[in-house]
Order: sequence, then structure tokens, then C-alpha cells
Amino acid sequence: MQDVDYLIIGAGALGLTFADTIVRESDATVAIVDRNFRPGGHWNYAYDFVRLHQPSEFYGVESVRLGNATRDQHGWNAGYFELATGEEVLDYFETVMADHLLPSGRVQYFQESDYCGDGRVRHLETGGTTQFQVRKKTVDATYFGTTIPAQHAPSFTVADGVTLIAPNDVSSLWASERDKFQSVCIIGAGKTGMDVGVRLIELGVPGDAIAWVKPRDSWLMNRATLQPGPEFFESTMLAQAQQMQALAEATSARDLFHRLESDGVMLRLDPAIEPEMYHCAIISEGEVALLNQVGRIIRQGRVQSISHSGLNLEQATAAMPENTLFIDCSASAVTRHPQIPIYQDQKITLQIARTCQPAFSAAMIGLIETLSLSDAEKNELCRPLPLPDTPHDYFAIALSNMMNQYIWSRTPQTRDWMMRSRLDGFSQRIAEVTEEDAAAHAILNTFRHNMPVAIANIQKLMTGSG
Ligand SMILES: Cc1cc2nc3c(=O)[nH]c(=O)nc-3n(C[C@H](O)[C@H](O)[C@H](O)COP(=O)(O)OP(=O)(O)OC[C@H]3O[C@@H](n4cnc5c(N)ncnc54)[C@H](O)[C@@H]3O)c2cc1C
Repeated sequence: MQDVDYLIIGAGALGLTFADTIVRESDATVAIVDRNFRPGGHWNYAYDFVRLHQPSEFYGVESVRLGNATRDQHGWNAGYFELATGEEVLDYFETVMADHLLPSGRVQYFQESDYCGDGRVRHLETGGTTQFQVRKKTVDATYFGTTIPAQHAPSFTVADGVTLIAPNDVSSLWASERDKFQSVCIIGAGKTGMDVGVRLIELGVPGDAIAWVKPRDSWLMNRATLQPGPEFFESTMLAQAQQMQALAEATSARDLFHRLESDGVMLRLDPAIEPEMYHCAIISEGEVALLNQVGRIIRQGRVQSISHSGLNLEQATAAMPENTLFIDCSASAVTRHPQIPIYQDQKITLQIARTCQPAFSAAMIGLIETLSLSDAEKNELCRPLPLPDTPHDYFAIALSNMMNQYIWSRTPQTRDWMMRSRLDGFSQRIAEVTEEDAAAHAILNTFRHNMPVAIANIQKLMTGSG
């Protein structure tokens, strides 16, 4: 039997970020358990061309910066802050574990180990077990349920002899067997499908040789409006103020997203199609231009089966050349579990507390855990946000997000922490804005003026009385 204050299940981004904050802000001991050989969670299985979709500055654990805050000089992210590659993210988490968490002397890491419940951990290689006596809390850092194509089984059937690969095999297969395939078909319209589309164009596949199955189109956040650094402060804050104004004035979810599109905050790939999906995906206008080279878009529902003649979809069949390479991008990146109280029954369930910011959320949950409060008081301070699926979900998420932000900014410990948090990025800069800084002051005024109107309007739209 081993005693520990916190037993964390999952050494992915959320588990490590929570651990980092606990170690930094308290004198507690921590044991981290994960099935994988290396820390980093799903990044261990990522495709070779994956990159973060938001700047590295907003990702990783609080106490260790990811990347060097440089701006890309070339490619579709040119001019904007760096986006770590999957390999860089993995190296980073390994460094966090080896050079920061373990040397604290208060962290133990059980790699290749399965959590079996009731404090019991089974070591996958030896079969031996360790029983923990958890003094404070068991932390579930798996609830986000990230799945990626390399780890999932497609929901459709595939005839023998048809080539279906995961994005992980695109680069190697293209290098060795490109002449074998006349056309390529991407299955799935999420961020992975977009990454694959960009990659194929970069590899020189002609756009008219690419087909793309999109059961739904998506609204996408414009990366230009989500940049750290003082040089982007005004444009990023302007986008926040525009979102607040749009929330105050919108008459429906459709109207909201059209307003945000006119402001340049949201993008879509085809202006003729009304998107039915919103998943917090972030994209640059450079990626949009590349993706618009894809020659054939198939909008007839989900794939049910693939045969030698083509696709059997929910609403139609689509013929494809016999020697088509199919790429499965149909894994949903997260599992939409219901929101549950974050702190309850000697357990913490890590969830999203600030919209589209999983790392910040895990760090904030860790900080609140270190405060001398009851679980009920902690839950009042930090409500879990739903994960968005449709444009209408934006309203509920915006409302919970504003409530969390309001209460954090009025609670001295959380407010002070946000002022110095690298993952927060903006609180300190906002607090420094003076009336002499007329442009920034005007943007903040627009934001603040519209907030109460936005809250009332969201409540009206959510109850259907708008
Ligand atoms: C391609 C891609 C790009 C992304 N880009 C961004 C981005 O730019 N910015 C951003 O903020 N977010 C991004 N995300 C979202 C991303 O999901 C989160 O940021 C974060 O990495 C999720 O981490 P996690 O710790 O919740 O999950 P995971 O990485 O899945 O980690 C969970 C861990 O728990 C372990 N585990 C599960 N069950 C058990 C058990 N019983 N016993 C032991 N171990 C167990 C698993 O082995 C795994 O290592 C991206 C996601 C994807 C798929």
C-alpha cells in the first residue's frame, strides 16, 4: 500500500497540467498513472504532419513554456505564432515529466500501467499491482476521451482489396506507392480531414484528384484573431469584443455566426453552404485557400460502406475510380460526455472550464483545488462547459464561460493567478490598459458594455423566447 495525496489517471495534456499546478501551488504528493510508454497521451499516436491548431503559447503546463514564441516565416501559418508539431509536443511533455515534475521529489510516474479502480494500478509489463491509499483525491484525466484515427475502428465496412488508411500512413504510403493510386478520398470533415487535405495538396496531389466526404460543414475560428503577443493584443481583443457584440445583437445561431464571419472572426470553407457543425477548430486563411483546391466535395451523409465501385453513403452512392486511396478521418477527436461536478466524492473529473482552452482549464481546476474551500464552494467557482457540436451550442458555452470568468475575476486567488498565468495570456495586459491608450480602451469598453446585454440575449435565445 502506498500513500499519496493525488492519484492522477492519465499523463496526457490535462493530467500533466493539473499535476504541474498542484506541485507548484501546494506541497502535496502526486502519482500519475498511464497505459502509455511515454507521457503525452494521444500525441503518442498522432500523424507525422499534425500541428497544434492554436499557438503553442496557449498550450502545455503552466510552469514550462512550449516553444520559443517565434512567428512562422513560411507556409500557411506565415506571420502568426508558432504551432508545435506532434513530435515537439511529445518532447515537451517528456521534458516536463523528466526535468520538472519528477525532480520535485513529490511526483511518481507509473508508465505502462492501467488504473483498475479503487486505487489499484496494474503494471502492464509485469502484471504486478500497486494499491494506493489516496489521502486527498483521485483525478480522472481521461474524461475528455480524446480519440484519433490511428486508435479508432471506422463505423463503416470496407470491401476486401479496397485501400483504407489512417492519416498516420499518408506520408509513407505517398512516398513509396503514389503511382498506384489515381485518386484520393478523404472521409471526415473535422480538423483531421482538413489537415489531411492540406497535406495532400502540399505533397503535390492535384486538387481534382481529391474527393472529400463531408457529412457536415463546419464553422472555423480564424487563427488571425487568436494570437498572443503585444503586437496582436488589439486585434485579438477586438475579436473578443466583436464576439460579445454579436452575442448581444444576434437573433439566432445562424445570425450570430454570419455576424462573426463578417467581422473575420469565423471562417468557412464554402460560403454557399450553411455549416451545421462547430467544434472549436482553428484555421488560417492560408489553409482555407489550399483546401479550396479540393476538386470534389461529397455531401450525402456519412459513409456506410466502401466497395470497389465507390461509396455507399446515408443519402446516395458515389462512384469512385477503382484505384482510389481512402483516408479515414472519421474519428471524433473528443467524447461528448455529460458535464458533471468537477469536485465530488474524493474525486476530481477534469473538464473544460474556459472555452476551447483545455490546458488553461486543467491548470485552473488544479489551482482551485489548492484553495481551502469545500467541494461545493469549488464547484461554484468552476463550472464545466459543454463541448460544442453545433452552432447553437455556442450560446450555452458562452454563458458558462462568462460566469466562470466573472467569478474568477472577483475571487482574489484566481484573479491573482490569472494575472501571472502564461496560459491566460491576457488578464495582465488588460489590467494595464489606461485611458490614454484610447484604441485599446475603446475595445475593452465595447466588450464590457455588451456583456450584460449578451447575457440577457443568450438566455432569451436559449429558452426559445427570442
Ligand atoms: C490532432 C489534435 C490536435 C489538437 N490540437 C489542440 C490545440 O492546438 N490546442 C488545444 O488546446 N487542444 C488541442 N487538441 C485537443 C486535445 O484533445 C487536448 O488538448 C489534450 O491534448 C487532450 O489531453 P487529455 O489529457 O485530455 O487526453 P489524452 O491525451 O487522450 O490523455 C489521456 C491519457 O489517459 C490514459 N488512460 C486512459 N484510461 C486509462 C486507464 N484506465 N489507466 C491508465 N491510463 C489511462 C491514456 O493512455 C492517455 O495517455 C487537439 C486534439 C487533437 C486530436
